[in-house]
Amino acid sequence: MIKVDQDLLRVRGVTKSFAGVRALKGVELDVRPGEVHCILGQNGAGKSTLIKVLAGVYRHDDGDIIWNGEPFQVSSPQDALALGIATMYQELDVVDGLTVAENIFLGHEIARGGFTRQATLVRRARELMKRLGHGSLSPTTEVGQLSAANKQIVSMARALSHDIKLIIMDEPSAVLDNKEVENLFQVVRELTASGIAVVYITHRLEEIRRIGDRITVLKDGRTTASGLPAATTSTSELIHLMTGRDVGNVFPPAAPIPADAPVALTVENLTLPGRFENVSFTVRAGEIVGLAGLVGSGRTEILETIYGARRASAGTVRVGDSALRPGSVGSAVRAGIGLTPEERKSQGLIGEQPIFVNVTLSSFERMARAGFLDERAERSVTREQISALDLRPADPDRPAMTLSGGNQQKILLARWLVHGTRILLLDEPTRGVDVGARSEIYGLIRRLAAEGNAVVVVSSEIEEVLGLSDTVLVISDGQVLSTVPSDQIDEHGVLDLIMKGAAA
Ligand code: ADP
Ligand code: MG
Repeated sequence: MIKVDQDLLRVRGVTKSFAGVRALKGVELDVRPGEVHCILGQNGAGKSTLIKVLAGVYRHDDGDIIWNGEPFQVSSPQDALALGIATMYQELDVVDGLTVAENIFLGHEIARGGFTRQATLVRRARELMKRLGHGSLSPTTEVGQLSAANKQIVSMARALSHDIKLIIMDEPSAVLDNKEVENLFQVVRELTASGIAVVYITHRLEEIRRIGDRITVLKDGRTTASGLPAATTSTSELIHLMTGRDVGNVFPPAAPIPADAPVALTVENLTLPGRFENVSFTVRAGEIVGLAGLVGSGRTEILETIYGARRASAGTVRVGDSALRPGSVGSAVRAGIGLTPEERKSQGLIGEQPIFVNVTLSSFERMARAGFLDERAERSVTREQISALDLRPADPDRPAMTLSGGNQQKILLARWLVHGTRILLLDEPTRGVDVGARSEIYGLIRRLAAEGNAVVVVSSEIEEVLGLSDTVLVISDGQVLSTVPSDQIDEHGVLDLIMKGAAA
């Protein structure tokens, strides 16, 4: 029974060291039944260590943990599970060689025994998969055949096969694309509706806004804030709590655009039926134009249409004086336009390929000598970019997927720079990038503008659009509501316009 008059979990002053390294230096956390409690923090803040303490993997050195009103006495993951605490780790711990059902009931008594037991197992696995909205996933499939997203579902089903009160998810979205994240959120909502608490670990602010009830922030092993309301705590405050820096320092100062800077990109009355209408704006060389709006307002489609990946039904895109052929990526790329997509993993990078292949991907023709790809030239061009963009690790042969989010973003930028692109369309350039590493990406984008590139940037974080751009287009429901210099509007102003636009 959950005692309703109290927190499910109370963590007070918890510390934990590893051979002299103090990973946790005093952590405070309260979790209520049925809430989604987000734990936010940069890499190394102590998030994974904290949840391993709660999961019974590590024993804390000091401090108090109260579980459901009683002292927390757990010395193994089995103990934690018996109390009703299940954990989904970053490195998913499902067994590839076993079936879905076998994975779910691994360690259960009912997993042993003959034929009838097998049938019961499969039936119960099917019920759990249904409860998670994945009834079509067969319990007899071998888990090794499944996508990362489906493995995660199996891991969740295993948690639910026990009578749990709390499920801890360590960066569950890191391996998921947009659609899979939506699905995960759906599952999370169903869990909390049945009274289960979710501790959700992430460093993505936009996810916290969507799924979180309250937030606890860790920095260098300490709690910098505990139980903040997810809906009303500002992004700048969260960044400050995570990094100790002010947002004002995070965004680089805008350089004045020279009075004679030519217009690089002109978008006129661009229309994609059902998505956006009569979108017009210009971007000068050296200027950053930001598109601010809510998810689904049409921002990504506008970028994709300028890039030629979608074909406008009306309107024109011009680079300098020449109009681009509608719906032709080739025409846009030849004119010097490059797009870095929102989904780096599925649309941009070839993860298993080395950095140099990814960087030179759009420049095959220049790299090919007598019909062969010249790997030496590719590596050498890549090394120049590695040093220009401070890409880490500085090894052209490293597979792209082994790099951090920020460095993967640099690969995509490098690809266009090698290609000679002068107009950069950046869709969510800091998605999946650690908050601490974001200011570096901001600095890089600002520098590329100062070098004469024209930049159009889309971000779901309004503060990011405002901090990064010279000019902001406020977009709602496929309409440009306003075009303003970014220093003449703030986050509230943008939201006001959107709300009024929605009411109109
Ligand atoms: P996060 O999950 O927030 O990225 P971690 O909990 O993984 O942070 O790490 C917190 C700190 O503890 C880091 O400095 C990390 O290097 C250290 N640490 C974590 N696990 C161990 C371990 N098993 N042995 C030694 N140091 C560790
Ligand atoms: Mg971690």
